[in-house]
Amino acid sequence: MKLRIVVLLSLFLLTQQVFTQNNQTHALVNVDVFNGEPDYLKGMTILVVTGKIKDIFKTGSRIIHDSINQIDLSGHYVLPGLIDTHIHMGMKGLSDSAEASRQEFRRWIYHGVTSVRDMGGDARALAREDQLIRQGLQPGPDIYFSATVGSSDMIAKDMRLKRVTRGVGIEKAGYVIEATENLDASQAVANAIESGVSGLKFYAGVDAESIRMLTAEAHDNGLKSWAHFTVFPDRPIEVINAGVDVVSHVWGAFWQDDDVDPSLKVPFTHTDFKDARAAVFPEDLSLLDSDSPELTKLFKTMVEKDVIWDLTYVVPNPKTQELYKRYALTASKAGVTFSAGTDYFNDPGERFPALYTQIEQLVSDGILTPAQAITAATLNGAKAIGIEDDYGSVEAGKVANLLILKKNPIEDITNIRQVLFTMKNGMIFNFSDY
Ligand SMILES: [Zn+2]
Repeated sequence: MKLRIVVLLSLFLLTQQVFTQNNQTHALVNVDVFNGEPDYLKGMTILVVTGKIKDIFKTGSRIIHDSINQIDLSGHYVLPGLIDTHIHMGMKGLSDSAEASRQEFRRWIYHGVTSVRDMGGDARALAREDQLIRQGLQPGPDIYFSATVGSSDMIAKDMRLKRVTRGVGIEKAGYVIEATENLDASQAVANAIESGVSGLKFYAGVDAESIRMLTAEAHDNGLKSWAHFTVFPDRPIEVINAGVDVVSHVWGAFWQDDDVDPSLKVPFTHTDFKDARAAVFPEDLSLLDSDSPELTKLFKTMVEKDVIWDLTYVVPNPKTQELYKRYALTASKAGVTFSAGTDYFNDPGERFPALYTQIEQLVSDGILTPAQAITAATLNGAKAIGIEDDYGSVEAGKVANLLILKKNPIEDITNIRQVLFTMKNGMIFNFSDY
């Protein structure tokens, strides 16, 4: 009984605190604002009213009413809130241990991560968690998630799909779509929408024609089309030409090379996590050439069609990393747009989430400039999810999702770790309270 009162009381206090802060109007004064360029807008005031950026103007150019809470940020920098475009909390985390997942969401929000895109998870658990977060009952980023589209073989065998549909069954889960020849695309998309997803994720064993058909249906209904860069059996260029918005992982680009044949890897199904690498990598990596004419054409087409590459760049194996680096450098020179997805989360004992390493390494490997890396992890992430009208940059009219830093990350990208506070919907999460 006692414990229950304590729990209820702390929940009440938490809720109180959250809503008081949320209803506050702030003026962030004297701050340098990142606007996508290496040069900041200097000495600005950001007026935040009920969670939205009402206005941005030069500090001192207007009088701020006494009733408004002024926060002096002289010598500090404001970036848009960070967006991780590839997480997997809905796969295992939320259903196996909601508590551990909540700790992770809490870590992310206190370190500036204000939105995430979860791939291939349990839509029921993700929708529930997202609702708690948006209500202010749990600290965390807004969660966007996907429906998985795969071949019949994948649907039958993949252990992850069994896990994410536990208790409902794959056939009845609107967020898992079996791509068969006589699939009713409009019904499938309607079911996916019912599950609360923001996009379809094409996983494996879906031919380019089915991707095209489902993508068109998704777009007609306001959903995004997300895909592995290679959705075996087809080459990446066919996935791009099918109209998808975002492709994931560096390894997908390997299969554009004429020397490898993606139709040999059908279907790509995880019956065990151990065989994941073997399932997606060509056997002989020495056949690959990151400067091949096929790659040049692929990247050119991506630029023309405005497709975002969710690189999930950082991997633990140094040899694989070296290979990834060559592909990412070629794509960067070709002008391909990247978003920053992690595809893993690091040791919860580490202070900073994995997204920080992702941003820093894209810069230290010479793939992006600091300003480009920040844009990859903010505006490009918002575009990947399809929320760029309201998120992803510090602009009047957008939601006040911000990351405030004590030092300049353009001068040195590792300064993104100099966090003062996160603001989400106008709500403040102080770094020192974490
Ligand atoms: Zn993934």
